[in-house]
Amino acid sequence: MQTTYQQPDATGHFGIYGGSFASETLTHAIAELRDAYAKFKDDPAFLAEFHYELKHFVGRPSPVYHAARTSREMGGAQIYLKREDLNHTGAHKINNVIGQAMLARRMGKPRIIAETGAGQHGVATATICARYGLECVVYMGSQDVKRQSPNVYRMNLLGATVVPVESGSKTLNEALNEAMRDWVANVDNTFYIIGTVAGPHPYPTMVRDFQSVIGIECIDQMPAMLAADGMAGEAEGKQPDVVVACVGGGSNAMGIFYPYIPFANTRLIGVEAAGEGLDSGKHSASILRGSPGVLHGNRTYLLQNEDGQVTETHSISAGLDYPGVGPEHAFLADIGRAEYVGVTDAEALEAFHYLCRTEGIIPALESAHAVAYAMKLSKTMRSDQSILVNLSGRGDKDIGTVADLSGVDFYDRPSMRGLQVKGGKA
Ligand SMILES: *Cc1c(COP(=O)(O)O)cnc(C)c1O
Repeated sequence: MQTTYQQPDATGHFGIYGGSFASETLTHAIAELRDAYAKFKDDPAFLAEFHYELKHFVGRPSPVYHAARTSREMGGAQIYLKREDLNHTGAHKINNVIGQAMLARRMGKPRIIAETGAGQHGVATATICARYGLECVVYMGSQDVKRQSPNVYRMNLLGATVVPVESGSKTLNEALNEAMRDWVANVDNTFYIIGTVAGPHPYPTMVRDFQSVIGIECIDQMPAMLAADGMAGEAEGKQPDVVVACVGGGSNAMGIFYPYIPFANTRLIGVEAAGEGLDSGKHSASILRGSPGVLHGNRTYLLQNEDGQVTETHSISAGLDYPGVGPEHAFLADIGRAEYVGVTDAEALEAFHYLCRTEGIIPALESAHAVAYAMKLSKTMRSDQSILVNLSGRGDKDIGTVADLSGVDFYDRPSMRGLQVKGGKA
């Protein structure tokens, strides 16, 4: 059964969420971006170039993979993984960055700024700036600079300048504030590439549209996969029963959810970071534990105290450590089209190790939240049902975090000796 869904309205509102809350100094820049996006979003030459880049630079389409061993061990629904981890630069972020960099070029803006949490958006932005010959400045919370030092070095190698931000919780929220400040000061020559479905209109819609390539590919790939695995039954064009994705700002989730929204028989489940527990005060679950307010240019659910001050967030994964969420998720939660659940640090870490050992895939800690929930959910479902998980990124960037948590220092040669194969030299 398919339904219709048309969001946002002309002013960028998803119900009561979204919109454009920005200082007067940015009104012109935002209007300019809105007009440019409206002009190019259906332009055949723009779309042809976008798809050329996705194919030849990113390596799309990314495969869908049947996690058969995991499914068997869970004993319930079949679990499929959309392999965004195989994209160039290791995550879904590059899809959106290419679209925005193409707009920047058409708008004649030679300088790009971006904010980054896990560093994945920064790396993706630095990558495309190198390819297009654009200047690149990336704002990053100083705590994330420490947690994600390989990505900081990667950005340097790609020619970008990384600016550590020392204020507040020293994570993504503050990096976003700094990037906004830079944009106000340099609006004439600067394009601000936002890495998720947040920010003032048109960002949430534009980022969703660029990331929708994920779900569009799945709608094509899943019926063939399910049929090949004998899972299609009588139905032609069978789609998965459930689609699961982790939600930080919400771009990988919107990218896979959006094309599935009209498919009323497919449940959509977003997984928020429950950190040390939803009632611990140390989490990033903006929908489950937040309330409506305005953050970074749009109205949405956010984690705030009674005075409307944004509260500090926590997650094992830097990419989910954000106090807000894209406004379209707030809307989908309110109308009940998507459901939102929490997965703790410990559950995500367990799923991380499980996927490494069972499928030979090292997932990003962000994506491990979605995997953890899918594993739990699959046990409550029948083996002829299916769950499609957006594996948003690979875990190479996280092995330092995981090693720390396991008490391993892999730059310390004596401590590595215990991990060597027999006869190997440390
Ligand atoms: C950045 C990131 C996320 C979180 O961002 P969304 O906008 O919620 O998708 C999730 N997974 C990976 C691998 C990331 O790099």
